[in-house]
Amino acid sequence: MTEQPVPVLPDIARLRPRQQMAMDCARCGRPLGAGGRVWGDTRHRGLLFRLWVCAPNCRPRAPGSAP
Ligand SMILES: [Zn+2]
Repeated sequence: MTEQPVPVLPDIARLRPRQQMAMDCARCGRPLGAGGRVWGDTRHRGLLFRLWVCAPNCRPRAPGSAP
């Protein structure tokens, strides 16, 4: 069994509320819809947050780039 790399999760405090509540992708910010998958669990101020992403290979939206 190969070791899974530990995902580097973003700072919860920097995410938008919709991303914190697993309504939007925690990485790129798109609405999750039905195809979300768990990115990882992280703690913030004693609370456990489960972050979701829309796709395993989605990329963070680069600031200033056209959609
Ligand atoms: Zn995404």
